Amino acid sequence: MMVQCVICDILEELDNTAPEAKRLRNRPIHTYMCAACHERVTARTNERIATGKFRFYRSSRRIEGDFYS
Ligand SMILES: [Zn+2]
Repeated sequence: MMVQCVICDILEELDNTAPEAKRLRNRPIHTYMCAACHERVTARTNERIATGKFRFYRSSRRIEGDFYS
C-alpha cells in the first residue's frame, strides 16, 4: 500500500504484511510518519521533556527560596 508522511508529504510503499500497514488500514492515512520525521519528532519531544524538567527544577528552587526567606 502507498502511504504519505503527514509532515514531509513523502510517499512510501509499505509492505502490506507489515504491522504498520495493518494498523494504518484501520486508521486515516494521514497518521503515517516516515522514519526520518519520526526520528525528528522523537528528538524534539525528548528536548521538550528535558526543558520541562529544567523549568520544574527552577520553579522548585524559587519556592524553596521563598520558604526560607
Ligand atoms: Zn516524513
